[in-house]
Amino acid sequence: MTEQLLTTLKKYFGYDEFRPMQADIIKSVLAGKDNFVLMPTGGGKSLCYQLPALEFPGITLVISPLIALMKDQVDALQANGIKAEFINSSLTPAQINAAYARAKNNEIKILYLAPERFAQKEFQNFLKSLPVSLIAVDEAHCISEWGHDFRPDYRNLNLLKKLFPFVPLIALTATATAKVRADIINQLNLKKAPIFISSFNRENLNLSVIEKKQAFPKLVNLLQKYKNESVIIYCFSRKETEEIAENLRLNKFNARAYHAGLETNERKSTQDFFIKDKINIIVATIAFGMGIDKPDVRLVVHYTFPKTLEGYYQEIGRAGRDGLPSECVTFYTYADTRKHEFFINQIEDNNLQKRAREKLSEILNFCDLSTCRKKYLLKYFGETLEKENCGGCDVCLTEKEVFDATVVSKKILSAVARAENRFGKNYIIDVLLGKKNQKILINKHDQLSVFKIINDFSENELAQIINQLINLNYLHKSDGQYPILTLTKKGAEFMGSEETLSLNKPRADVIDAKKRPQRGELEFNPELFAILRSLRKELAEKANVPPFVIFGDASLREMAYYFPQDKNNFSKISGVGAKKLERFGAIFLRAITEFTAKNNLAPVARREKSAEPVLTMSTQKPTFYLKTKELLIKKTSIERIAKRQDLAPSTIINHIEKIIDAGEIINLAYLKLPRNRYETMKTAFAECGDEKLKPVFEYLNGQYSYDELKLARILIRL
Ligand code: ADP
Ligand code: ZN
Repeated sequence: MTEQLLTTLKKYFGYDEFRPMQADIIKSVLAGKDNFVLMPTGGGKSLCYQLPALEFPGITLVISPLIALMKDQVDALQANGIKAEFINSSLTPAQINAAYARAKNNEIKILYLAPERFAQKEFQNFLKSLPVSLIAVDEAHCISEWGHDFRPDYRNLNLLKKLFPFVPLIALTATATAKVRADIINQLNLKKAPIFISSFNRENLNLSVIEKKQAFPKLVNLLQKYKNESVIIYCFSRKETEEIAENLRLNKFNARAYHAGLETNERKSTQDFFIKDKINIIVATIAFGMGIDKPDVRLVVHYTFPKTLEGYYQEIGRAGRDGLPSECVTFYTYADTRKHEFFINQIEDNNLQKRAREKLSEILNFCDLSTCRKKYLLKYFGETLEKENCGGCDVCLTEKEVFDATVVSKKILSAVARAENRFGKNYIIDVLLGKKNQKILINKHDQLSVFKIINDFSENELAQIINQLINLNYLHKSDGQYPILTLTKKGAEFMGSEETLSLNKPRADVIDAKKRPQRGELEFNPELFAILRSLRKELAEKANVPPFVIFGDASLREMAYYFPQDKNNFSKISGVGAKKLERFGAIFLRAITEFTAKNNLAPVARREKSAEPVLTMSTQKPTFYLKTKELLIKKTSIERIAKRQDLAPSTIINHIEKIIDAGEIINLAYLKLPRNRYETMKTAFAECGDEKLKPVFEYLNGQYSYDELKLARILIRL
């Protein structure tokens, strides 16, 4: 069964393997069960109904809340050669009737529908006349009033099980709160459905919080890293979005503002320009996001920290849906709390106001963390992250450096004591930094000896130090809306002692304009990548679809890494299915071969799943190795040869193998391996034979890399 599913996966979607849980979900759907799927954004939910739709004999109905998204989804499916259509209010009655007819004739495999139609009896009758194999309710949280995105029309969907008692139904959402979950199960009548919950850790996202000081220059610096790539910047107010967008344009960035106060047409065109890669930066209020599904957003910035962690998680979720490394940066200053409080104070219901305050304090805690941010975030949503170091947040990625914190700690502790254990962290920081705000003046705390006693740490750094003092129990922080700091016994003793105290050095937040998150990323050729991107854009424009419908960034990066030279190798690129191979294969291949020929680059062999590198590189033109051969004759080291051609050393080793296999005679004795390692490998090859590397690799307990083994084999065979 899995074999067949994999074949369908490659043929229609171009992928070689399933993402976590996809295969299990698909099997459960195909077994005719109802299913409930909770997966984060970018987890690959769509495939869980799109692939079964192709295996089932009849039609699959997909209910989805947003008209704009339907079109993108249908475009993407059609580009893969799948008969998909949608019916919603953007079509004329004649178009709708024609679609009805095609559906009845079994000419449509996947039909997207807007929920409001279900209220009409006529429409229900029409649906009942179709050979329905599967029903998918996407964004299923829209059915719940408890969710953030309730759509009254979704309530109609409780009809589904009555209309189609024997048709499997799959509900999918990225919203995971228990209350919403229970509501969905109840409304859709899914009591017996297996529930698939995947991890909500988005491994490819890199989270960081930086101090909001000199904010605009920091933003500009950050954006330099993402020239021409899609970026969303979330702001607090409409006015702020317009100002920032304007200032970015003055700095030659291609940015536009987006908020609910703009004319519908302007909003639409901005969204459209963004999706079609005609502008790369959207500066938005949180009104932006639901309507777009752009898979290649590489950076999400919160210029003001959001008001809840739920909102934060949802907004950063728009980054990196395609699974490629992406960055999420929050600009944080405690002063922005006032902006949120202004609105919270206007909430009339006392309970709701209290809730809003609690949520605000959760996000403040998050911004202040000196421990892993992903752990905290996931814990908030009820998931435990086991790993010690998440590898994807600023805290975990900063090398820990300790410093002598005796003096600064004593200053902090004594400020807490002088202020009589009655104030919170930010107040204490303000006193220490000598801020003459109203509260401090009223309390006459500008007259304390600790007032303005610190000038060598920033607000952000002091917050980090205080957090450590709390964690180490020198200070106690009370619970509740306005946590208060008090001195503990340990803290009081430390103040009067001669002890020293070492703490982790606070993270300074300089933005490294060159450093981008990289996690197992291919070292693709950026020049070719840019060429392929503009080719993709051109083709997309002609077909009037978003560029990512032609090929995703992940596919283009693979092309710009492997340099496929023929259809066979092109078809191995992730995202290249049968239809895309036929439609776009030749034109992309031409661009790739032109580039590789001009730059004397060789195709790179693919590692197969067995971890055994593939040695066959079909139809290589020997000329591609000319440069390598030339350099070998000059006795250049492998590293240098690789560097000269901007290739990986393992590629060069492949070249050497091919060159030798082709009968060339070159003196390679200079490529010596360390004597004892070489001898060990030689013995291993004698033991296991030299046909395959894997047995030798395993024989040597993985102590020798495939590259080293391959090089040794070349030398042994000489
Ligand atoms: P979700 O609806 O859960 O947010 P999508 O279904 O939009 O996620 O999928 C996110 C991205 O991941 C899409 O670009 C999709 O093409 C890609 N994707 C889905 N499944 C796979 C897979 N098995 N291999 C590679 N990419 C995949
Ligand atoms: Zn972390």
